[in-house]
Amino acid sequence: MIFTAAGILSAAYYITMKMNRSKLHRIYRYLIDWLYPNICPCCNKHIAHDADFCESCKSSITRYTGSSAVSYTNGFAAFCVYDDFIRPAVLEFKKNDCGNTYYAFACGIDTAVKESVFCGDFDIIVPIPITDAKMSERGYNQTELIAKELRFLMEIPYNKVLIKVKDTSEQKSLKGVAERKANTEDVFAVSSKAGDIKGKRILLIDDVCTTGSTLASAAKVLKEAGAGKVYAASFAKTEKKQRDTSENNTGTLCSADQQD
Ligand SMILES: [Zn+2]
Repeated sequence: MIFTAAGILSAAYYITMKMNRSKLHRIYRYLIDWLYPNICPCCNKHIAHDADFCESCKSSITRYTGSSAVSYTNGFAAFCVYDDFIRPAVLEFKKNDCGNTYYAFACGIDTAVKESVFCGDFDIIVPIPITDAKMSERGYNQTELIAKELRFLMEIPYNKVLIKVKDTSEQKSLKGVAERKANTEDVFAVSSKAGDIKGKRILLIDDVCTTGSTLASAAKVLKEAGAGKVYAASFAKTEKKQRDTSENNTGTLCSADQQD
């Protein structure tokens, strides 16, 4: 049997058309693993191309079982507790976008959302943005990388609907309630390139959530722009006891979500 180049290309094109983007992406991950072996974000051990963490680290991750409410959202879910075990991987991801972290974190959010009561038909995934200045300095937005991976896992498009228009200070560096509240107000805006989001069901994602002020600020802007429902999810979530109690007294729009 003779295979011509045209025949092979036709067969490849036919197979590609029959597959959805999610399946193609799994094949891509399998192939890319030969060049850049997949590693565990916590211990750097080599793991299977479709694994998120190694078995040992996975068993050390504390799943988040709280029921935090985030203002302006219709539901919130998180995969794990932001504790001493997972913190180094989260912080490393803010300094270095190499490796498997974005995929592992996307898998975590995917799991948390599927296990949540609000799991359903989302129209778009929207990542929490960073400022242009931060983007120039760092070169990437870690939450956007997670969103890009999540679109394959959930088979939902992602859209950079929001822009961050104001840099925020560390909440712990601010003293008064008014100062902290002002710090988290008018931080986000809807991008002129966002398209129509009226009536859309949005899954808003972030890498880490502390008291929820960042997600709440972003959700408020999306709702004001006409979004139908806004659900929020993060990979990690601080537990209430981990936060400074003085920050909790300032309400839902004044937390210490200063991961950036
Ligand atoms: Zn590991």
